[in-house]
Amino acid sequence: MDADVCIVGGGAAGGIMALELGRRGIRVVVLESGPRHDFAQRGAYVRRYLRHEDPWRSRLAGLDVNTGSGRLRYNLEGRRARGVGGSTLHWEGYTLRFHESDFRVRSLHGIADDWPISYVDLEPYYARAEIALGVAGAPDDPWASPRSTGFPLPAFPFSHSDGMFAGACGTLGIGLHHLPQARNSVPYDGRAQCKACATCHVCPTGAKASIDLTHVPAAEATGNVRILSEATALRLESDRSGEVRAAVYAQPDRVERRLSARTFVLATGAIENPRLLLLSKSSEFPDGLANRSGLVGTFFMSHPGIEVTGRVKENVYPYRIGFSTAMSRQFATEGDRAGRAAFLLEFLNSAGPTPEGLAVTSGLTGEALREHVRREFGRRLGIRIYCDQLPDQANRVSLNPRVRDYFGTPVPHIGYQVGRYERDGLDEAKRVAESILRTLGGTDIQSSGLSMAAHQMGTHRMGHDPKTSVADPNLRAHDVPNLYLAGSGCFVTASSSPPTLTIAALAIRAAEHIASRLRGDSKF
Ligand SMILES: Cc1cc2nc3c(=O)[nH]c(=O)nc-3n(C[C@H](O)[C@H](O)[C@H](O)COP(=O)(O)OP(=O)(O)OC[C@H]3O[C@@H](n4cnc5c(N)ncnc54)[C@H](O)[C@@H]3O)c2cc1C
Ligand code: SF4
Repeated sequence: MDADVCIVGGGAAGGIMALELGRRGIRVVVLESGPRHDFAQRGAYVRRYLRHEDPWRSRLAGLDVNTGSGRLRYNLEGRRARGVGGSTLHWEGYTLRFHESDFRVRSLHGIADDWPISYVDLEPYYARAEIALGVAGAPDDPWASPRSTGFPLPAFPFSHSDGMFAGACGTLGIGLHHLPQARNSVPYDGRAQCKACATCHVCPTGAKASIDLTHVPAAEATGNVRILSEATALRLESDRSGEVRAAVYAQPDRVERRLSARTFVLATGAIENPRLLLLSKSSEFPDGLANRSGLVGTFFMSHPGIEVTGRVKENVYPYRIGFSTAMSRQFATEGDRAGRAAFLLEFLNSAGPTPEGLAVTSGLTGEALREHVRREFGRRLGIRIYCDQLPDQANRVSLNPRVRDYFGTPVPHIGYQVGRYERDGLDEAKRVAESILRTLGGTDIQSSGLSMAAHQMGTHRMGHDPKTSVADPNLRAHDVPNLYLAGSGCFVTASSSPPTLTIAALAIRAAEHIASRLRGDSKF
């Protein structure tokens, strides 16, 4: 096979770029490692999910495995999904734009580095990404950066417990506002309205946006996009001119095949992109493809987080909505960003034990059990916190030749730690959350241990200078003119906002750039 553009990875970045390129008449082949997950099977998937199985896990042994080192182990299992649609099959769907200050933390606060592009450069692409994904939101976030368009869908109404949080936040002078999300508050784009069934990691109705529903069918309908599922890229081959000539891939039969194209895009996520580059060594690139800077795999970031919960007297009616509807971005932009990590507050609609959890741990039966569940269920409120993480060159993705996956390829090894800056941010966040819960009359206030979000960023950062970055502001690899590196690996800093809307905006922008180049537009 050959194509104008070969995209490796059919998730958020890859699916969006395939549609953008296909619409412009460009012939695209997408190599996607995972299968097509048939939408008609979602009911069965929900049942597996409710039995605490991961329906998105690869059936090929070792494909989802990674090793780790550092004081904290960053484990990928459950933190990404393999299949047409990628991790958006599994994601929560919260879709915040980064704040304009997130792109300029070096200039504004003297920390980390500035991005080579600004919020203003990305704003029109954010607007297009929101329309394509169907983002429900309201313009009530006083800390949001300027928007050229409204939200395509109305926000979900605040929940009962949001109202309780709003009262306490009002007393404390903390702003609470709607949480934007790619989930249908009303029917949209041929997909159903959300039914509040609360299994969002496997949405049975299609109300939650996922790329297999929002982009892949439209991309294939252009007639220019072919998606090859269960096709895992093993490495890219480059020639002596320093350009990529072929993607070598294998299907479950493990037979190696080659796909040639004029342009290649790696869109396999911030762990697999650097892994593939490191696996694609050649005489021209002895340290890995596009790695003359030595930075491929470095500056790995996530969003460290904690949850703070407290017991209240009245019923808070939890577990009626499967997702959160309110948040505060106040501490993501205000405060001492030079001294401690910025953070978001997410006001949970589901906290504390479920009825069955209470039952199983109670040791009671009959009327005593019923009374226990009546008394205890719905009496906990919770706040989830995610913070920004500074890029640290010691946090890195490398290859572990001692552990091999289904195809005999070294698995990714993640060296990871969380520093003082992030811990100080979370300490401050904990104090804020505790004061909100105390204002609500909360007792037995508890804080969870540190956990990391299913967000992976920063392993092939973009920039103007080939010595200090891997890709340019259009996501083109500095060292390889016909190779693009899409996804959150290109992020320079992490923000405290979830990454995917920014991934989507950057993907649309990069696709525009590739299309212009392939048409021979002189501007490029
Ligand atoms: C449980 C969970 C909750 C999340 N919640 C949110 C949220 O609320 N908001 C948010 O912004 N983000 C969230 N995310 C993160 C979000 O899903 C990712 O940021 C986003 O999907 C990344 O896009 P991507 O295209 O870079 O990677 P992916 O969407 O992961 O796609 C990469 C694709 O590449 C394929 N692939 C990998 N290796 C190869 C190979 N060698 N050859 C061929 N194909 C390959 C994979 O199978 C996958 O389909 C969540 C993620 C998870 C797992
Ligand atoms: S609550 Fe809404 S988005 Fe979540 S699984 Fe149910 S229908 Fe889908």
